Amino acid sequence: MHLIKNCPIVVTKTPFEAVQFIRKKVELFADDCEPFYAVDLEDICNKHVRWLTAMPRVHPHYAVKCNDDTVILKLLAFLGAGFDCASKTEIKKIIDLGVSSDRIIYANPCKQSSYVQYAKQAGVDTMTFDNEQELMKIKQVYPDAKLVLRIVTDDSNAVCRFSMKFGADLETAHFLLEKAKEIDLDVIGVSFHCGSGQMTSQAFVDAIKNARSIMSYGDKLGFDMKLLDIGGGFPGNTGTDEHFTKIAGAVNKALDEHFPVQCGVRIIAEPGRYYVASAYTLATNIIASREMIDPGTDEKKLMYYVNDGVYGSFNCVLYDHYVPEPTLLKDTSGEQYTSSIWGPTCDGLDCITTSARLPKLPVGDWIVWKDMGAYTISGAVQFNGIPFGKPLYFIAKSVWDNVKQAFQEKQIEYTVGRIYRMNSECGNEVEDEMVPWEDFEDPVLPS
Ligand code: PLP
Repeated sequence: MHLIKNCPIVVTKTPFEAVQFIRKKVELFADDCEPFYAVDLEDICNKHVRWLTAMPRVHPHYAVKCNDDTVILKLLAFLGAGFDCASKTEIKKIIDLGVSSDRIIYANPCKQSSYVQYAKQAGVDTMTFDNEQELMKIKQVYPDAKLVLRIVTDDSNAVCRFSMKFGADLETAHFLLEKAKEIDLDVIGVSFHCGSGQMTSQAFVDAIKNARSIMSYGDKLGFDMKLLDIGGGFPGNTGTDEHFTKIAGAVNKALDEHFPVQCGVRIIAEPGRYYVASAYTLATNIIASREMIDPGTDEKKLMYYVNDGVYGSFNCVLYDHYVPEPTLLKDTSGEQYTSSIWGPTCDGLDCITTSARLPKLPVGDWIVWKDMGAYTISGAVQFNGIPFGKPLYFIAKSVWDNVKQAFQEKQIEYTVGRIYRMNSECGNEVEDEMVPWEDFEDPVLPS
């Protein structure tokens, strides 16, 4: 196997599981203890195909805030996704990849004026709002913008709630539509977000119904309400397929009822964690450990210190209510102890978990964390001068060749079968050669 150090994208002859890939990397570069991510690009391709299959009427606009890794953005641009940007920097990042401005929605209801100005220069004309001041601001800076009214949802069953901060209720929505008409702005549709990590499909169903009613009011006022944006909130962790399928089924049904195809409304969504959560597996190295006796119970407990923490990749523990679960790279038997795992900075807050059950492990062993792609690296900083995990991407050559061909030729339906067939054939070959993936550095973006 040849894995070129410093080449972050690796093409494998046969499909790899993330943990297998991590093992190879650790074996090959035994001296390198820096934390790293194994990023499974096939997982992202599969997610995209699954989305297109499950909700063919809903065009995904990936929420850049969730993980703004350039390789992922390039891949999604190549696959034909649109983008949800929240700021000038995110818009610039997408435009700089060569993506056309009409594939971007500026989905932040409260924007700095200079950012609206930038959106105008960049030709990103579709943007959300949910308050009167925002309308006034847009009237001044970008009167030709195409506005999308964000409405409130019941996000009480979501892990991360937004409706206390964003979204107009029914009465306010009517008022804002009337105001927009009065000052001659163009409102083209309605958006909502049911909260990140939404546990129920009913939240989507109710929001779609409410959107219909508000869009009908807009139509009555003389607007041409032709865009519905159903936001993010779709699950993306390993093992959430069934949950996703349920939500997709409920969304399709609600769309058919309230927005039948012949009504001509374009439907988009802003999925973030759905696309990236399961593709990223983080490997951290144990840099120190201690034993202690719990003064209350006399129980022996272990403390492990690893080289990425809550200021780095694990900021999701603080900001995304995430409960990460450690797994060991090596099979290690022996008595298990209640263990806490701490990040590498000098701050006492830098604690990843206090309730792991782990055996005694030596310094230098690796702890692996699955489902670490969403709201991790995009919020990480190098506090104490300590870097967080760097991504190392992998995909099987045959898979990439299929994806490339199918998406370039827009034979997407054909791809579904092919990608899934590839998956089920995993492990038939045992060659494990890896080569640097030069091809991917410059993917051909669809025009
Ligand atoms: N759209 C908007 C406006 C958001 O604020 C967010 C998350 O904060 C998303 C989309 C993505 O949400 P998720 O990652 O739950 O799909």
